[in-house]
Amino acid sequence: MIPESFDYQRTSTVSEAISLLQKHGEDAKILAGGHSLVPTMKLRLATPATLIDIGGISELKYINDKGDYLAIGAGTTHWEIESSDLIAKKAPALSQAAAQIGDVQVRNRGTIGGVLAHSDPQADYPGVVLALDATIVVQGSRGERTIAVSDYFTGLWETALGEDELLTEVRIPTDSANANSCYLKFPQPASRYPFVGCAVAMDSSAGSCSDLRVGFSGVGETAFRDSGVEEALRGNTLNESAIASASAKAAEGRNVLSDVFVSEEYRRAMAQVYAKRALTKLS
Ligand SMILES: Cc1cc2nc3c(=O)[nH]c(=O)nc-3n(C[C@H](O)[C@H](O)[C@H](O)COP(=O)(O)OP(=O)(O)OC[C@H]3O[C@@H](n4cnc5c(N)ncnc54)[C@H](O)[C@@H]3O)c2cc1C
Repeated sequence: MIPESFDYQRTSTVSEAISLLQKHGEDAKILAGGHSLVPTMKLRLATPATLIDIGGISELKYINDKGDYLAIGAGTTHWEIESSDLIAKKAPALSQAAAQIGDVQVRNRGTIGGVLAHSDPQADYPGVVLALDATIVVQGSRGERTIAVSDYFTGLWETALGEDELLTEVRIPTDSANANSCYLKFPQPASRYPFVGCAVAMDSSAGSCSDLRVGFSGVGETAFRDSGVEEALRGNTLNESAIASASAKAAEGRNVLSDVFVSEEYRRAMAQVYAKRALTKLS
């Protein structure tokens, strides 16, 4: 499969990429790892006239401890996230998700910025960054702005990212719930995309569940925080029966995806199973 012809622009700074975005407008697309965009172009579902390659921008590749939060550059690859000791300690759900994405080739090329800009409902990170209560940093011709992750995923394949904006950084709070977080998934056996991915961040240091955030990937039209599970457990002592009744509420009242591989009914049941497993793992 061969894509439509396009112009190719390789950039080395964020400001250069933003100027090119402004110049070419909706005819241009950012190219990061290319592991979602290039297949889409080969299928001719995307036919950008210009590709702006940000893969060589070194200022987008970092993982820094800022005290209150971890700052992760948008160009950081899944492999770099998976192998970061800092992320493994402060936000283990994110390293566990990174380690389960696709295969080694995908993890070596694909970036966190690319996944979050693409906003595939089947991708792993969206449910994880919701559970970790991340902040998304974007830059455009009007400067920089931050978007709470709860406002970021706006619909199927849609985000709050403007057409002339570059996603530059993901901020993960370094709170005690995030330090006690995990990500479990029921993967499609060939691609490894999650049929169901469940991320949980929980502070239970005082003996009861004082802070709890549950995020799902792969289950609905967008990733979502599951307030039903959270409210059922918050403030309660963590025991088998409390976890069982809270996880039975997973995806309650939500439209759940159905496809040729997994029916709505089965996916909903698996959401409950994976919520229970993740909560049990952290308790
Ligand atoms: C075989 C295979 C298996 C996979 N398995 C999984 C899996 O198990 N789980 C999973 O989650 N994903 C999976 N993926 C997807 C993979 O994680 C991709 O890396 C990811 O979806 C996109 O990241 P990228 O850096 O390659 O982005 P690209 O493909 O380069 O870009 C994706 C989109 O985001 C835009 N974009 C990229 N970066 C930015 C930015 N900084 N600012 C603004 N816009 C930007 C692009 O314009 C494009 O529209 C798989 C992919 C393949 C090919």
